[in-house]
Amino acid sequence: VLATGANPINIPIDGDTAQVHSVNDLADYRLFREKLKDKQHVTILGDGLIGCEFANDLAAHGTQVTVVGLGQSAMGRLIPPQLGQALQNALTEIGVEWKLQNSIRSIYARGDRYQLILQDGQQLETDLILSAVGLRPNTALAQSAGLEVKHGICTGLDHRTSDPAIFALGDCAEVDGIWAPYINPINQALPALANSLLGKPTDAALKATPVLVKTPILPLSVLPAVGAGEWRIEQSDDEWAAAFYDAAGKLSGFALLGKQLQHQRSQWVDKLNITPAIV
Ligand SMILES: Cc1cc2nc3c(=O)[nH]c(=O)nc-3n(C[C@H](O)[C@H](O)[C@H](O)COP(=O)(O)OP(=O)(O)OC[C@H]3O[C@@H](n4cnc5c(N)ncnc54)[C@H](O)[C@@H]3O)c2cc1C
Repeated sequence: VLATGANPINIPIDGDTAQVHSVNDLADYRLFREKLKDKQHVTILGDGLIGCEFANDLAAHGTQVTVVGLGQSAMGRLIPPQLGQALQNALTEIGVEWKLQNSIRSIYARGDRYQLILQDGQQLETDLILSAVGLRPNTALAQSAGLEVKHGICTGLDHRTSDPAIFALGDCAEVDGIWAPYINPINQALPALANSLLGKPTDAALKATPVLVKTPILPLSVLPAVGAGEWRIEQSDDEWAAAFYDAAGKLSGFALLGKQLQHQRSQWVDKLNITPAIV
């Protein structure tokens, strides 16, 4: 069973890039915590789920944070702009600064600090840089073994790869055409995988499960939408419910932003009138 996970993506940046950290495991996290001591300002490269979670945590503990990201609004790949903007506003209130539709072009050491030059020419000084621009499935071993690999190691719902004696699970795997780098699909797959390994081929019963985004300032849960469709959004005070309807008009994803709406998560899952998708 291949369970080689995913590796952080490193984007090309000029200059002193040795101090660009990413957090993908406990050792990375320990190092980041160590480097964080006595630092005042952290720049997060990446306006996605992990960048926003770190921004919330760091700002809530008194660190000044600037998020640099390519999107027009926070978490643009997972939620519609209206919700992204609302999340940005909430994080701005606790001190997070945003440099969106932008990236880091170069980094230069200036004593104990770093000078960043952004793609649009803006400059800023920072103490520490955290890169959270995404993960890429670790498929090196599978590729060298000649297994079929697209984005991840290709498997069916039974998690069997193109070699019937080899299975793949977790962030390294693309299961039935979908790459879902989250904990839930792993847990849901385990009973079927155990059966298959014991000689009783079984497809995993993968259920639609929302991803909980840990931004306590404004909690968010997302059932990622796949394919073409449109968002329909309802807002009430500081709560936003966004429903994603696919081309056939079926509810196929949602995003719930706000504290109270989190209590309705399971009702929204029940509302999904679709073939179970993995998320
Ligand atoms: C900062 C962060 C926050 C996250 N938050 C959430 C969250 O809130 N909810 C959620 O559902 N998911 C979250 N995730 C994703 C979740 O952590 C992953 O989906 C999950 O860890 C994947 O498990 P895995 O076993 O496939 O891979 P990993 O946990 O990455 O483990 C893979 C292991 O394989 C080892 N390995 C790789 N290649 C080889 C080799 N050739 N030989 C031997 N060993 C090898 C690696 O060293 C690693 O230890 C988060 C991820 C990150 C980075």
